[in-house]
Amino acid sequence: SVKQLIGDKLPRYVRVNTLKTTVEDAVDYLKRDGFSYLGQACRLDDLTLTEKHFVMDLYLPEVLVFSPKTDFHDHFLYKAGHIILQDKASCLPAFLLNPPPGSHLIDACAAPGNKTSHLAAIMKNKGKLFAFDLDAKRLATMATLLLRAGVTCQHLANQDFLKVDPDSPQFKDVEYILLDPSCSGSGMVCLRDDTSSADQEKVQARLASLASFQLRCLNHGLKFPRLKRLVYSTCSIHSQENEDVVTACLQQNPGFRLVSLLAQWPERGLEPLTQCLRASTAKTRTHGFFVALLEKHSEAGNTEQ
Ligand code: SAM
Repeated sequence: SVKQLIGDKLPRYVRVNTLKTTVEDAVDYLKRDGFSYLGQACRLDDLTLTEKHFVMDLYLPEVLVFSPKTDFHDHFLYKAGHIILQDKASCLPAFLLNPPPGSHLIDACAAPGNKTSHLAAIMKNKGKLFAFDLDAKRLATMATLLLRAGVTCQHLANQDFLKVDPDSPQFKDVEYILLDPSCSGSGMVCLRDDTSSADQEKVQARLASLASFQLRCLNHGLKFPRLKRLVYSTCSIHSQENEDVVTACLQQNPGFRLVSLLAQWPERGLEPLTQCLRASTAKTRTHGFFVALLEKHSEAGNTEQ
């Protein structure tokens, strides 16, 4: 299909796992392996690569970009956990949350754990990373992935995030939350298909149910008493799961506001939520994606308007 064709044309993105190596060492290894490095990209068009050329991403210095069909599944760097195969857009949430080493944080809907391993790398494995997922099988996959990536600061639990008690003493120092809940996946280029209008009602009902789940997760996340920042992301292109969920949440939680993200990023959240980021094949050469960063106003939250 046409959509599949677009999918085949997306660059291949690789995140360098700084728990195991450095960007410099990964680049050197790849050069010795026959790839040719063109330096850091300056424009979106620099991400259109052929053969064995590769560049460093414009905005995310730990992301390397290759031509669309580059396959790393059998590559040493992948098998040794030095590189993670992850779309550039899905590297945004952990990068933007940027939890300092030593902090306590929650990855609320974590499996299969690409963002968890990214968070651990940013924290340099120092601190406590509580990661929840409802699906035991996906959590098992995640444990394998984290082992290969050298992650050691995680505390995995096969638990419904909505049933995690925000007032439990073990979470008293949680200041950061990454929330990447189940979504329609409508941004995934390979999953997109043309739904006939007869199915529109079903699609709308599913979106409404996902949005209500996403809003409950978001509201729940904001209940952790020491929370400073929460990053919310989906791989959906539907405003019902993105801007609408965030808008409803902010109305219900006046102590929180949006943080303006990456001024240089070319695609913004839909008006008026332009502090948020969107991603798409056309504007960012990635799958469709949405990210919002919420922060608590101040320590004296309840005295504020
Ligand atoms: N953040 C993951 C990553 O980057 O690898 C992807 C997460 S995926 C979009 C959403 C996950 O949420 C699924 O693994 C699903 O099993 C999990 N999930 C759904 N409902 C949940 C709940 N109530 N509590 C915890 N996890 C849940």
